[in-house]
Amino acid sequence: MKYDCIVVGAGPAGAMAAKYASQNGARTLLIEEHASIGSPVQCTGLISTKALFECEVAEGNFVLSKIRGAFVYSPCGEEVCVRGNDIKAYVIDRKIFDRVLVENAIDKGVDVLVKTRFTGMNAGKISVVSNGEKKEIEGNVIIGADGIQSTVGRAAALPRCEKFLSGIQFEAPYIPKDPEYVEIFTGNEIAPGFFGWAVPFCGMARIGLAKNPGLPARHYLEKLLNHPIVSSRYGGGRTEHVVGGIPLGPPRKTTTDRVMLVGDAAGQVKPTSGGGIYMGAVCAKIAGEVAARASHVECGLSEYEKRWRSAVGRELDIGMLIHKSIGKLSDENLNEFVAFLNKPEIRELMTEYGDMDHPSVFIQKLIMSKNKMQLIKLFGIAFKTLF
Ligand SMILES: Cc1cc2nc3c(=O)[nH]c(=O)nc-3n(C[C@H](O)[C@H](O)[C@H](O)COP(=O)(O)OP(=O)(O)OC[C@H]3O[C@@H](n4cnc5c(N)ncnc54)[C@H](O)[C@@H]3O)c2cc1C
Repeated sequence: MKYDCIVVGAGPAGAMAAKYASQNGARTLLIEEHASIGSPVQCTGLISTKALFECEVAEGNFVLSKIRGAFVYSPCGEEVCVRGNDIKAYVIDRKIFDRVLVENAIDKGVDVLVKTRFTGMNAGKISVVSNGEKKEIEGNVIIGADGIQSTVGRAAALPRCEKFLSGIQFEAPYIPKDPEYVEIFTGNEIAPGFFGWAVPFCGMARIGLAKNPGLPARHYLEKLLNHPIVSSRYGGGRTEHVVGGIPLGPPRKTTTDRVMLVGDAAGQVKPTSGGGIYMGAVCAKIAGEVAARASHVECGLSEYEKRWRSAVGRELDIGMLIHKSIGKLSDENLNEFVAFLNKPEIRELMTEYGDMDHPSVFIQKLIMSKNKMQLIKLFGIAFKTLF
C-alpha cells in the first residue's frame, strides 16, 4: 500500500483533512483505531451554526436540538441571559456527525481503514496494527488527527499542548428553564478554572463540567448535581457517561518535514469553551490542502504552520488569556463579573457581538466601551494581561 497522504484518526479533524487532501489531488488513506467511526463519544456535541458550515454539511439527522443562547449562573445564583436573535448552535449526535464527515471524505476518493492503530513511523512508512496484524504502509505526508494523546505527535517528537482540562459528563432527563438555551454554572466549588453545563435536547440534557487539573472531575460532578438550580431540574439517572481531557494552548510547533498535527492533537481548541470542532475543521482543511501541494512538491509542510496560525492563532491566544484571567477569579469576583455582564448595555453588546467561535470580537467591543475601567477593576491584575 502506498499513499501520498495518510491521516491518522477519523474524528472531525481527520475526516476534513483527508477530504481536502484527496480533493486536491493526493492519494489519501484515513485510518481509525476503533471499529466504529464516532465511537466512543467524548463530547457534549454543542456546535455553532458556523462550525457546521465550516464542516461543509447541511443540517441533518445528527441535529438533536437548536440553541439560541445561554443562561449563565454566578456562584451566588445570579442569572444572566445571553440571548441570541436567531439560532446560534446545534446539539448534535457526534456518532452520526462523525460518520457523515467520513462518508463525505470517502465521496472525494479517500480510502478508509478501521480497526487500524498507528504505532510508529520510520522513513517513508508508518507502522500499524490492523485487525490484530502488524503492517507497514507507505506514505509521504502523515497528518496526526489522533486527538489529545496524539501518538503521531509523540512519534514525531513534537511538543505537547500548554494545558489539559479534565471533563466529565452524562445524559439524564432534565427540565431546562428554556429548551433553546444552554445553562452554564460557574464557581470554584463546581468547576475550578472552567465551568459546568446542562445542554438540553429532547427532554434530556448532557450535564457535565470541565476543570483545571487537581481533584478528580467526579468529585465536582456530585457538587454540580447538588447545585440548587441543577438539582431542581435534573430528573435522576445517568446514561452515556463521558470522561475526557480537553487540550488548551497549541504547542509551539505542529509540523516536521513529514508530519502535521491537526485538531485536538494540535491544541486547536477554543480555550473559552473547550470546543474543538470548529477550529479543528478550519485547520484540517488547510492541512489537507498543504498535504496535497506538498505531495506535488509545490510547498513544504511549514506552510501549514504559517497558514493555520494566521487563520486562528490570534483567536486562540486571546482565548487563552481570557481563560487564564477568568480562571484566576475568586467566587466573589465571579459574582461581580456576572453582575457586570447583567448590565443592560453589556447584554446588548453580547447580543450583537457575542460569537461562541470568536469571543475576541465581544472582548474588543467591551474594551472600546465606556465600561473598560470597571472591567479592569473587576479583573484586577489577572485581566490586565489582556491589554
Ligand atoms: C467532556 C467534553 C465535552 C466536549 N464538548 C464539546 C462541544 O460541545 N463542542 C465542541 O466543539 N467540542 C467539544 N469537545 C471537544 C471535542 O470533542 C474535540 O475537540 C474534538 O472531538 C476533536 O476532534 P479531533 O478530530 O481533533 O479528535 P477526536 O475527535 O478525538 O478524534 C481522534 C480520533 O483518532 C483516533 N485515534 C487516536 N489514536 C489513534 C491511533 N494511534 N491510531 C488510529 N486512530 C487513532 C481516535 O479513536 C479518534 O477517533 C468536548 C470534549 C470533552 C472531553
